[in-house]
Amino acid sequence: MTRTESLRVLPSVDEVLRCAATNQMLDACPRQQVTRWIREAIDTCRTTLLSGTPMDADAAMQFVLHRVRERSRAELGESLQHVINATGILLHTNLGRSPLAAAAMDKIQHAAAYTNVELNLDTGKRSQRGERVTRLLCELTGSEAAVVVNNCAAATMLVLQALSFQKEVVISRGQLVEIGGGFRLPDVFAAAGVKLREIGTTNRTYLADYEAALSEETGAIIRVHRSNFQQVGFVTEPTIRELVSITRSRHVPVIDDIGSGCIHDLSAFGLREATVKESVTAGADVILFSGDKLFGGPQCGIILGGTEWIRKIRQSPMMRAVRVDKLTLAALEATTEIHLSGQAADEIPFLRMVSRDAASIRSQCQTVANGLSTTSLDISVVPCESQVGGGSIPGSSLRSFGLRISGEGIERLSHRLRTGRPAVIGRLSDDCLILDLRTVAEHETETLAAQLNAAAQST
Ligand SMILES: *Cc1c(COP(=O)(O)O)cnc(C)c1O
Repeated sequence: MTRTESLRVLPSVDEVLRCAATNQMLDACPRQQVTRWIREAIDTCRTTLLSGTPMDADAAMQFVLHRVRERSRAELGESLQHVINATGILLHTNLGRSPLAAAAMDKIQHAAAYTNVELNLDTGKRSQRGERVTRLLCELTGSEAAVVVNNCAAATMLVLQALSFQKEVVISRGQLVEIGGGFRLPDVFAAAGVKLREIGTTNRTYLADYEAALSEETGAIIRVHRSNFQQVGFVTEPTIRELVSITRSRHVPVIDDIGSGCIHDLSAFGLREATVKESVTAGADVILFSGDKLFGGPQCGIILGGTEWIRKIRQSPMMRAVRVDKLTLAALEATTEIHLSGQAADEIPFLRMVSRDAASIRSQCQTVANGLSTTSLDISVVPCESQVGGGSIPGSSLRSFGLRISGEGIERLSHRLRTGRPAVIGRLSDDCLILDLRTVAEHETETLAAQLNAAAQST
């Protein structure tokens, strides 16, 4: 048999599409994609046959199906779906940071159809997008005005560009940071078209350094909160109040990038983080923070400030490029209403998770352990530490409890949990899997036990 003759065993695209295995895939992945995977797998099979590897028709079909299945698995691993977060990291950037409050989810659902995003239903007149939510944000923080954009990174770019284009922005060397994912402040300055005027040293920058840097060229002073690392020891830098005191006589704004956006005092839980209100009270001209960190809302960048500054920011041509969509506004409006209602501790998932006491988490662990029908897992309830995460409040942790699962095949079990529906994500450390239940909602407890049973059984 010549090599060309050996190609007769190759299945056709239609034959592969008719297989039961392919049909299952078609429930989850679009037909066009599956068809392309099949074509590519047949091509690979052809190359393999031509290289002299013998196969019968059945083996060729299995060869193709195996490759297509691998492609669909990898694809579905990225298909967005509900995940049970058992990592104990409250704001897990890879898991979408803050989970939304029920009321925020509800409001998104309603806004998903037509919604009055730029229409006042009472007057019948056009309104400014996000007008109500900015009023609520001012009510909550004491700020004069506000504007909302896609995220805090967009807020930083927009504010620098709108207020200080081609001018110098003064920043302490101790704050010239990488925020994450390669987002480095010097690059942001360059992209926004402002000049970096770095002052002081890594550990100490004085008010006098700022005063000396102020000139006709100054466009702003920016303070960037160290959200994802700590500086301890021989360190000093001026407060916002002090910075404002030296800029008052000039028309130069003090921009406070606080990043994490803490609304309520969290010191009762051992978490020390300045609140948004403190920055407003200290007199910062413009304040920036993320909506999906400690605020507990959707991804967005919230900009607070004096009426004049906010007007100038709104007028920037960049504003249109970073404006938020109706779904974000819906979730943010609902979340802000909760903060104002006095119900935040109960209704904002992030705050609920922060305030959970270790004993209740331990009993939740026990419930899951008791619900296991399998004896094939080596499982115990152990103390562990939860992290806030999401580049917020570094170096702080919360006492928690988790399920520690060990034994052979722990990586396989972890994979099975991850690829289950819903997915369960834990923390692999050394030879065991830790499921920290601080981040698992009460209503997910039963499902978690069921997923553990299912994953253990197929081991
Ligand atoms: C998190 C953070 C940002 C980036 O916020 P995104 O909403 O992720 O864009 C910017 N600055 C500081 C200080 C932060 O902590």
